[in-house]
Amino acid sequence: MLYNLIINLMEPKKECALCSRLVNLRNKNKILFPNFFNDRVLGIGPLNSKLLIIGLAPGLRGANRTGKIFYGDFSGNLLFSFLKKYNITVNDDEFNEIRNIRCRITNAVKCLPPKNKPTTDEIKTCNSFLKAEINKMKKLNVILTFGQIAHKSLVIAFNKRLSEYKFKHLKKHKINDQITLINSYHCSKYNINTKRLKFSDLDNIFKLIKKLLNL
Ligand code: SF4
Repeated sequence: MLYNLIINLMEPKKECALCSRLVNLRNKNKILFPNFFNDRVLGIGPLNSKLLIIGLAPGLRGANRTGKIFYGDFSGNLLFSFLKKYNITVNDDEFNEIRNIRCRITNAVKCLPPKNKPTTDEIKTCNSFLKAEINKMKKLNVILTFGQIAHKSLVIAFNKRLSEYKFKHLKKHKINDQITLINSYHCSKYNINTKRLKFSDLDNIFKLIKKLLNL
């Protein structure tokens, strides 16, 4: 009980050691890639935003390398090109100019998982931090989840049932009177190359977000 209370107030600390498998991978990567960040990657953007975007976890050569969420790989470049297109970043500065972001961006799991696949236990363990982050967002109106794991984590964070909130690409769910959830396939290179996720899908998602938020 006390543990839950404490963890709900916190972000994961540097070198968070709650998931042993992910810590083992982190330690291996410190040897293989000594110049990489190799630690948990925190969310960015104002906590008083109306929009929250949730990805899966840091990618090896993206956020795990740079230490900045959705920064340094294809997914990040794609996401930020759409945030700029729809004026959710205020100007053309680089992504690390976080003061210019008009949304919060985070991951369901804050450490790199092997093969981008966290276990259910890891998702649940890191969910305490996601839940704490969401609880701080008092003006939250729209959540965009990229991929099934982000969706599952969000449903867990709101203590809802997955059977009532099934993931479906482009589907809109009502979480409560204040919050709408939008599902998308992850904006990964693989999903774009296989046309599972199309640029026109992302256009439709961000048009819907702008409409829902009156931006
Ligand atoms: S995934 Fe989350 S809970 Fe697990 S070690 Fe990393 S920060 Fe800690």
